[in-house]
Amino acid sequence: MKSLGKILVFLAFISGSCFVLRDTAQGAETVLQVGFDPHLPPYQFIKDNEYQGVHIDLLNAIAQEEDLIIEYVPFDTMTGCMDALEEGKVDMVLGAILEKRGKRAQYGTETLSSSSVCMIVPKNKAEEFLEGKKMTKASYQEGTITFSFMTNIKNLRAIPVSNQERGMQLLLDNDVDAFVGVKSSVLYQLQERHLEDDYTIISNYMLPIEYNIQVREGDRELLEQLNRGIESIRISGKYADIHRKWVNENDYQLKTAIKRITVGVGAAGTAVLILTAVGVRINHILKKQVEEKTIELQEANEDLKKLVITTRNSNELRNCVIENSPSAIIVFDQQFKITLFNPSAFELAEGKKLESGRNILEYELFREILESKKEMLFQSQKGYQNQEFSRQTGAGEYLYYRYNLYLLFHPDQKVRGAILVIDDVTAENRLKEQTIERQKEEALTRMVAGIAHEIRNPLTAIKTYAELIPLKRDNAEFQNQVSQYIPREVERMNVLIQDLIDYAKPKKRQREWFLIEEVAESCGLLIRPMTRGKSVEFSMELEPGLLLWGDRGHFRQALVNLLLNGLEALERKKEPGENRRLCLKSWAENGCIYVQVSDEGIGMDEEEAEKAAEPFFTTKATGTGLGLSVCKQFAEENGGTMMIRSEKGKGTNITFCFKKNRGQ
Ligand code: ADP
Ligand code: MG
Repeated sequence: MKSLGKILVFLAFISGSCFVLRDTAQGAETVLQVGFDPHLPPYQFIKDNEYQGVHIDLLNAIAQEEDLIIEYVPFDTMTGCMDALEEGKVDMVLGAILEKRGKRAQYGTETLSSSSVCMIVPKNKAEEFLEGKKMTKASYQEGTITFSFMTNIKNLRAIPVSNQERGMQLLLDNDVDAFVGVKSSVLYQLQERHLEDDYTIISNYMLPIEYNIQVREGDRELLEQLNRGIESIRISGKYADIHRKWVNENDYQLKTAIKRITVGVGAAGTAVLILTAVGVRINHILKKQVEEKTIELQEANEDLKKLVITTRNSNELRNCVIENSPSAIIVFDQQFKITLFNPSAFELAEGKKLESGRNILEYELFREILESKKEMLFQSQKGYQNQEFSRQTGAGEYLYYRYNLYLLFHPDQKVRGAILVIDDVTAENRLKEQTIERQKEEALTRMVAGIAHEIRNPLTAIKTYAELIPLKRDNAEFQNQVSQYIPREVERMNVLIQDLIDYAKPKKRQREWFLIEEVAESCGLLIRPMTRGKSVEFSMELEPGLLLWGDRGHFRQALVNLLLNGLEALERKKEPGENRRLCLKSWAENGCIYVQVSDEGIGMDEEEAEKAAEPFFTTKATGTGLGLSVCKQFAEENGGTMMIRSEKGKGTNITFCFKKNRGQ
């Protein structure tokens, strides 16, 4: 193998180190430190003051492909290399033993080379060893096989060494009887020393050893570069050339070596028998190894199975959620072509067949929802949340929908399409409507009593006037009084009754802009009659011109509820006193519109105030517990909030707060 040294060098070596130029992204040149164990011929070793071998050639070729500048840093042991890598003294370790599992496995490159483990002994001792009579000392490199594997071999004392050359040296110096080493390295070393005839392999353990390059934990960039380099030299054929240059010749030698060994062994007839006996023992060890590996594999397989199941489950779950969602889900691209939909969406297509690839605007309901948004949807980069939409069916019935419209993005943040999620909230709305109606009836009963009283007074007056008319036919002043009083009072009663009827009349939900003061005035009109004779001072302070977007009827209902609660709180205050105040106020401040009802009634303690707005919470004998919950619902439906501030014995402030200019 004298010619070997000559073909080894194919790149320039400078004082034992090899440099390959590399331009980094910054333009600065960074030298990557490569830690390696130079005692692993023919993969990586020192000869003629040069670093040589399969791995050196491969890494040089990779560096050239990837424009990396590298510098080799030798370490006596693999552990030394790995420590240096961990401490950041080197950027990678060449010829690390490949790990298939664990943390380290993530930062190792593709395999650079592979071999297996074998046991070699001096030929003249083979027989003795095979008889197994004497305790044998055997060296092995730590990390290539485990200590327990060594001790499993009967009658063996395992001597760990740091590298392949050292292990071999002990054997050559007769310090040990056997060496359990990396086969290709063992054979190469024998060939280099022309000792192939003096030593023999007595066991092939078939334990594969694979070498790769290990990078620092987290250094994915370098890992990718190296793997890319390995791939390109594989494609270009350089990888095979380098291996052939070193290992194929080895193989040839290897074959002849084995032939010699076999011939040698064959010469001694009895040895064959003994070999068979040892074969049984080694087979036993091998079987054990295979069993261990099988268990490992089974475990890995189980893990994989679990992973597959989890993945499948999560996919299934996702599909299941979409498939069974009561919400209609429709996904469409930038051209409004439907790409995905679920069965609930089917129902909203109103008999028209819902199909992928069709334009979503072909479907009436979807078109109506998207109508005002379609122009700017993909440009605006924003979606729409919790929007309401209602439409009348042919039968005149109203259907209500709530929908969300989200944009879908590619990983690079480019808009990919949109997803429309629609809920039919007709039933939910009916239920709310029913609650409101029930609450309304309750309030109405109370108000009618107050209003009846209010009407009775002017009616009595009118009746008296009517009775007096025949008697005072000539009394001009009386005539004048009657002609002024009666129409004025009748008009007042008319407005009152009209308001009451208006309040009582069931209405369709309808959103519109309305003036707060208008609705508040009419509530005041309904409430005022109830305050008479109760030492209640009712006042209204309304900032004119404040507009609100929402359902006018619901707003009136909410105000009536608050005012009735206030009035009741005043009535429930036992101690006699001066007039107590009930006030309805509205004002704008800091971009918000506030509407507040305050009273000086019995007030609430903290717990009561917290629960007051919960449906069916009441402290009154005939209460429904729905008043405040309807108020809160109104506030929330219109993007506002309701705040309750109360002090036991002092009074209560309930305030609505709405964002100004909100609406559509
Ligand atoms: P109801 O009036 O039918 O009891 P509400 O929802 O209107 O139902 O009110 C719930 C409860 O909150 C009342 O029973 C009362 O205890 C308390 N509450 C509401 N408003 C006031 C108020 N202005 N002052 C004191 N307590 C109040
Ligand atoms: Mg109430």
